[in-house]
Amino acid sequence: MSDHAAPDTAVRDNEEAATRVVREILGHQRRMRDGGCDGDVCPKCAAYHLDLVRAAMESGRPIEFVLPAFPTKSPNPAKVLGPLPDLAEELALRFLNSLCERIARIYPPGAVIRICSDGRVFNDLLGVDDAHVTAYVTGIDRMIKDIGATHLEQFTLDEVYTGSGHEAMRDLLSSGYAPSVEELREEVRAGGAPLAMYRGITRFMLEDLSGPQWTGTRSALQRKCRDLAYRVIQRSRAWGDLLLELFPTAVRLSIHPQPCSTGKIGILLADTPDAWLTPWHSVAVDTGEGFTLMKRAEAEEAGAVLRHVDGRPSHYVLAPAASRAA
Ligand SMILES: [Zn+2]
Repeated sequence: MSDHAAPDTAVRDNEEAATRVVREILGHQRRMRDGGCDGDVCPKCAAYHLDLVRAAMESGRPIEFVLPAFPTKSPNPAKVLGPLPDLAEELALRFLNSLCERIARIYPPGAVIRICSDGRVFNDLLGVDDAHVTAYVTGIDRMIKDIGATHLEQFTLDEVYTGSGHEAMRDLLSSGYAPSVEELREEVRAGGAPLAMYRGITRFMLEDLSGPQWTGTRSALQRKCRDLAYRVIQRSRAWGDLLLELFPTAVRLSIHPQPCSTGKIGILLADTPDAWLTPWHSVAVDTGEGFTLMKRAEAEEAGAVLRHVDGRPSHYVLAPAASRAA
């Protein structure tokens, strides 16, 4: 180091900046219930994630985050407005970009969140067409550009196995990185975070597949969803491991609630009463006091009115209770 001016102060400043960055992220932490976190900003998680953030800052480059998310819209019309991104996604993208802007105020090189769209990774299991995944990814790219979210980038499986067909990409990913279903069953049987994840995914599968297209019995659907949940987790795990290999120094974010002090930071994308609800499983609802996420059918039952923007369904508006009663 050629600059001998007060190195101790510089180190202290760096340490303080890294702590502030970690606290900024953890202020939006999505925690697993009974996962071991406490306080508004969990001190154990802060200590756990500080090293990686500090290392990123010491490089002098923007802090890099990876976030497997924004896969594709749920195929269930009772939950969403259709296959394309709408205001629910836009609000989440704006939030993620603003998080990076706040980090840039603490650490001027700033931050980049690489959204690692995982739709192509498991859309076949959800019964979603590859064409819908492509349209959704294109829509997210356009939205990032339109709202000027300069701190966000999107990355997809198509960029990993360029030139392969979609089915072949998924096969390559699975054969290279997926754990066996037997290994996963073992983990789930042991309880804790893997069991919570399995239950959460099974619930999503049940909701997504229980539309009018299902003609079998409820118990057959439950069996199918439990089996599919393992396969979704298998592919998600494979995608996560591939991303770790491609972006080893990135701070890993997750849309799923995480237990205390683990490799990923669970992050909330929106203000919603259900910690598992995401923009692609719901619609944005303007409550008059801000936006929240709700399943489409619930928004409609509550009397919310659909709004279009640029000729496309965008979100719902919930009139204040007083005017609904009038
Ligand atoms: Zn914690």
